[in-house]
Amino acid sequence: MKHNFGAGPCILPQEVFKKAAEAVLDFNGLSILEVSHRSADFVKVMEEARENVKKALNVPEGYTVLFLQGGASLGFLIAAYNLAGKHKRAAYINTGTWATKAIKEGVNAGLEVVEIASSEDKGFNYIPEVEDIPEDIDFLHYTSNNTIVGTQFKSIPKTNVPLVCDMSSDIFSQPIDVSKFDLIYAGAQKNLGPAGATLYIVKDSILGKSPLHIPTYLDLNVHAKKDSMFNTPPVFSVFVSNLNLKHLINNGGVEAIAKLNKEKAELLYNEIDSNPNFEGTTTKKDRSLMNVTFRLTDETKKERFDKLWNDGNIVGLKGHRSVGGYRASMYNALELKSVHALVDIMKSL
Ligand SMILES: *Cc1c(COP(=O)(O)O)cnc(C)c1O
Repeated sequence: MKHNFGAGPCILPQEVFKKAAEAVLDFNGLSILEVSHRSADFVKVMEEARENVKKALNVPEGYTVLFLQGGASLGFLIAAYNLAGKHKRAAYINTGTWATKAIKEGVNAGLEVVEIASSEDKGFNYIPEVEDIPEDIDFLHYTSNNTIVGTQFKSIPKTNVPLVCDMSSDIFSQPIDVSKFDLIYAGAQKNLGPAGATLYIVKDSILGKSPLHIPTYLDLNVHAKKDSMFNTPPVFSVFVSNLNLKHLINNGGVEAIAKLNKEKAELLYNEIDSNPNFEGTTTKKDRSLMNVTFRLTDETKKERFDKLWNDGNIVGLKGHRSVGGYRASMYNALELKSVHALVDIMKSL
């Protein structure tokens, strides 16, 4: 078995892979890959998956859960279209590549975009302070975890305006207070399930309120009215996401996984900080628990270190092409023993 530190698509529990494999061969006499999305069997899966999201995140009354397509990349546009209000103006916190792309789609939706805080000056290696949030905006958008550089918000920005968050790379890794948000969205493939589905948790009171003329597929109200079945949903991705949600709930839920995620991150950051061969790449207080980034203090050791971890059955450790160095992504299903394997290799350099 390999230790998968890849940034996405993500590692999932072995038990989930096994059940998914079984359903490819036999899902009530058909393959899950051929079953009609309108069949009672699949409608039940979709309903369960949406319920299990609510259960796992303790979603309060007044929110709708949807499984759509297009990834978080389409989510940037969907968020802007649906949260637009009378100001046609939105504030964004820019913490990296994904936040920058979200800003671009805000503009594409026809909004005036105000970048109220940014960490671009230092290569996005910290989370910027948010001071004054203007009142005359329709929403504030942020990205909870910067998957690429490895920073993470440790608290929810305080604001009176509707809050929108791209949680693609840390959703289900810890408890969150959903009531603080008007919209949360996330590509499934970072911490939920296989690529294909994109999760939306939307406050019902904003549905149908946008003054913009929204193209049909991008209108969350259209999907909410059709119970997330407006068109053919990504059947397999929803099915496996549901298996993974059940696995999460049956194993202590987000509280238990948050404890384990913290333990994994501490183990690796402690090694980075105590081993003179390595240094962390982000500001300590803003370090991500999901994507741990680091580099060698002496680049001449690169070849040796790369051979060591490759020989140690570790995959996916290479940093993002835009930042270099190393990135260890430690999503929910990565076991503590995999982090120990990496730390042992780092010690042996
Ligand atoms: C991966 C990622 C995205 C892009 O997701 P797609 O589903 O590939 O469009 C957006 N935001 C964040 C935070 C990500 O980690």
